[in-house]
Amino acid sequence: MQALMMDRPLLISSLIDFAAKYHSDTEIVSRTVEGPIHRYTWKDAGARSKQVAQALSNKLGVTLGDRIATLAWNGYRHLELYYGVSGMGAILHTINPRLFPEQIVYIAEHAEDKVIFLDLTFVPLLEAVADKLTSVEAFVIMTDEDHMPDTSLPNVLCYETLIGDQSGDYDWPEFDENTASSLCYTSGTTGNPKGALYGHRSTVLHSYCVCTVDGLGLGSHDVVLPVVPMFHANAWGIVYAAAMCGAKMVMPGAAMDGASIYELLDSEKVTLSLGVPTVWLMLLNHLQETGDKLPHMDRTVIGGSAAPRSMIEAFQFNYDVTVVHAWGMTEMSPLGTTGMLRPKHAGLSAEQKVDIQVKQGAAVYNVDMKIVDDDGNAQPHDGVAFGNLLVRGPWIASGYFKGEGGDVLQDGWFPTGDVATMDPDGYMQITDRSKDVIKSGGEWISSIDLENEAVGCPGVAEAAVIGIYHPKWDERPLLVVVRSEGSDVGKDEILAYLEGKIAKWWMPDDVQFVDELPHTATGKLQKVTIREQFKDYVLPTASDAAE
Ligand code: AMP
Repeated sequence: MQALMMDRPLLISSLIDFAAKYHSDTEIVSRTVEGPIHRYTWKDAGARSKQVAQALSNKLGVTLGDRIATLAWNGYRHLELYYGVSGMGAILHTINPRLFPEQIVYIAEHAEDKVIFLDLTFVPLLEAVADKLTSVEAFVIMTDEDHMPDTSLPNVLCYETLIGDQSGDYDWPEFDENTASSLCYTSGTTGNPKGALYGHRSTVLHSYCVCTVDGLGLGSHDVVLPVVPMFHANAWGIVYAAAMCGAKMVMPGAAMDGASIYELLDSEKVTLSLGVPTVWLMLLNHLQETGDKLPHMDRTVIGGSAAPRSMIEAFQFNYDVTVVHAWGMTEMSPLGTTGMLRPKHAGLSAEQKVDIQVKQGAAVYNVDMKIVDDDGNAQPHDGVAFGNLLVRGPWIASGYFKGEGGDVLQDGWFPTGDVATMDPDGYMQITDRSKDVIKSGGEWISSIDLENEAVGCPGVAEAAVIGIYHPKWDERPLLVVVRSEGSDVGKDEILAYLEGKIAKWWMPDDVQFVDELPHTATGKLQKVTIREQFKDYVLPTASDAAE
């Protein structure tokens, strides 16, 4: 028997329509690339998104399924493109401007982008490669006529002029909710970037999750500031979810240093903010230098890489801000787990609570997870056994754009490439990327655990651990350290610091010091490059074993 419920498609346009109609006077505040702070409302954003859709169709001949790219910071015009492009049935391709220029060319060509919208910041970047972008018919600079630069870009248009003469009198088209809505390429530490192709249905379902209490708990009572960029996994879904619940949004533009972020957190009374650990480190440093506090902030979401214990403690103990540790991937829209505590944890001490919060968290509804060994056998959820982490759910990729990488699913599960433990309550802890785990004497050593411990050592600014060939153990850990400014911390001090904090056989066989470590475009350690740098390095313990 069929249900007697209306069959209304879950479309991204319904999110902006809802916010514009029912939260019409709630503000969206942006720090612009041009300088000033810009303010308007969800009602204004709704109207201008429709003008974008009209301009794309009337002036640029954009139709259903065309790829429209952006190279832009978090700001109101970017938000209008999120809704205008996807809402009219085209596909929003958010390009990460931190990629190397050759990678940008590769993905724009691969996506066959028809139009690129860009912030003023990125004019020189695109000028340098414009002649290699064979599918692009127009470059739209996201500014007004007064700020239009002199540029060698061909077919260049001004955003405000493009949309300014459109009436906004426009009905969003209706189509199948499984239609593709947006495209985001993974940064890829090896090989070419691959495209995760999101849909309207997956995006709306993911937004519901962000708005659930045990998701990210976003609601109309919140003032939300995504520091995580809109070019990185859709700013973790916040732009869509904020419309779904009518939250006030604050967007930082290009200024992500501690002082600039603090200024917005304070002046706009932000209650919830989201970002990667690097950004929060800059904010915490700023707070420490100035003595400023965070009286309005209720919680901060930390993800993208592991939130160090010291960071969780600093937010919770010094600033009374609850940390929500979250894990996900571009291919997962991106939310997979959140580290909310449960009623059974209420009686724990503050430190014991942090013991749970350093884990990446428990699955949200609609994300199913399992850990398996290299032969695909399920591993126990005892908080100790490691396994390759597999996931499935309605906002998780079933493959990559244009079939890149072939058939990626394993029996209907997506292999995350992460290695993790699961405890009996379902809290997952990432112990490594599968290709970074160190295999010593048949046992696995977590490079991430070692790195997290090492950065706790005074004088260590950043640490990377890689496996180095060892004649007896196959691989042993090498700790590569960037010293904090002014520090002369040495190998013996660091190893002594680690003693007692890690299993004896995890102790790095050596420590090497470097001025800086390489990172990917999304700020993760680039282990492939580090391994390349140390490919001829021989462990001091290697000769002991050979004797
Ligand atoms: P991306 O698609 O660029 O967001 O990268 C996804 C990957 O980042 C995951 O597969 C993890 O390896 C890593 N990652 C994301 N969140 C966390 C976290 N909270 N802790 C540790 N690693 C994380």
